[in-house]
Amino acid sequence: MKAIFFRAAVAAAALVTTSASAHAASASADAPITEADLAAHMRILAGDAFEGRAPGSDGEDRTIAYIVGEWAKAGLEAVPGSATPWLQPVPFVETEALNGTAKFKVRGRDFALADDGILLNGRDASVSLAGVPAVFVGYGVDGAGHVNADVRGKLAIMLFDNAPFGDKLPRYRERRQLLADAGAAAVLVIATDAVPWDALRESVGSKAMRLAGAKAGAPVSGFLSGAAADALFKAAGQDGAALRAAAKSPGYKGAALPATADFTAQSAVRAFASHNVVAKLPGARPDGKAVLFLGHWDHLGLCVPEGEADRICNGAVDNASGIAVLIEVAKRLGKGARPDRDIYFLATTAEEKGLLGARWFADHPVVPLGAITVALNVDTIAISPRGTPVATIGRGKPAYDAVVREVATKLGRTLDEDGEADAFIQRQDGWALGAKGVTSLMVGGSFSDMKLLEAFLSSHYHSAADNFSDKIPLGGAAEDADLHVALGRAFADTKRWRGTEK
Ligand SMILES: [Zn+2]
Repeated sequence: MKAIFFRAAVAAAALVTTSASAHAASASADAPITEADLAAHMRILAGDAFEGRAPGSDGEDRTIAYIVGEWAKAGLEAVPGSATPWLQPVPFVETEALNGTAKFKVRGRDFALADDGILLNGRDASVSLAGVPAVFVGYGVDGAGHVNADVRGKLAIMLFDNAPFGDKLPRYRERRQLLADAGAAAVLVIATDAVPWDALRESVGSKAMRLAGAKAGAPVSGFLSGAAADALFKAAGQDGAALRAAAKSPGYKGAALPATADFTAQSAVRAFASHNVVAKLPGARPDGKAVLFLGHWDHLGLCVPEGEADRICNGAVDNASGIAVLIEVAKRLGKGARPDRDIYFLATTAEEKGLLGARWFADHPVVPLGAITVALNVDTIAISPRGTPVATIGRGKPAYDAVVREVATKLGRTLDEDGEADAFIQRQDGWALGAKGVTSLMVGGSFSDMKLLEAFLSSHYHSAADNFSDKIPLGGAAEDADLHVALGRAFADTKRWRGTEK
């Protein structure tokens, strides 16, 4: 590995001095990024000392120190004029449920839910509601993404899974917020098999995080286990399976239940700041446009109940892998011929809480959003082996697609253009920037082979098993890292890329 690097560096120096075109030389001079390069960062970032990289934890401090240290070594700089160099504080409000009660009545008679079947979160320090009528709302939205039922003053019981009648419809957090905006007094989300109940309780059940200043949720929110929901439906004379089936229609209007609920909830409300890490590689000939690389540094922290041997969700693949790639990409771009345009690097916080760090950046950008010619997000990249075709989430702008195709082809990659990858478009930080008009792409092999991706998502994903190990496939990640170096060079090259789609 060292020998190859040395040869490449020497070759680069030779070409730069003898070739009239430093551009052409630099494009071929970047030392390949290796599996070992990536593994070295992942082992550290996903180590137990980083405690699963939860926002606001000691693990955050370690994570940030590591990223800043590596990016500084790579030659990146703090964004000029920042009051907090390298860091963008992101203010959060966290509510942690201390205790809560839910008492249901069906047709006026007490109905007891199994103790373990409900998780409650109060919006404020103390909440008390009585006689709230219950309505099952299915996915909570219709085919156009609008709230599908009258929920004002009511308890809306909503399904967790994505609505099956559209691929651009909001995910559960956004749907829960829409119901709150529509006046729901309480929103309970029916858990799904995709997230084990224990994991849900540990990761999102007891704590809720939102951006300070963001719209508040319903006074009471929480989760119902599938079994608890079915028991309530049955007592109310409904069949859970039939309700779920009916909800699959885009025109579903919900079903009022002959049930009411009383809620009390006490919560500890804490304001704290987490941080996005932001850095800049100043361009050699800046023209007012910039390239933005981003990936989330955060993960789920302690995610397993007390008493278990391994309580840490280390997030090796999700997303120590992406941060490792961004560190090595910064090193290559910082070292070779300096790109024309400014290149920004952003490591976001609280992606796992709903793209919150990226949303904050999109609302408080350190560079005008209109100047960002492309945002390239790197997330969950250690999935596929070398040779996997390149898929692009966010494809569809011909001029951009052409650059990706040309760069990938030059590196000997083939392209996957079936569009399957777009199923994940809302599940990644680029979505927050795309919503504000920034062309955001996620390019690489991890979202190309759906069998490999699904195998990860249905096993180690968001669990304590997402640990670093030599078994994690890094060949595809290394290839995708090289691809990002080349994409960075292409989009930052004023002669090669004019900076807009038109
Ligand atoms: Zn994740």
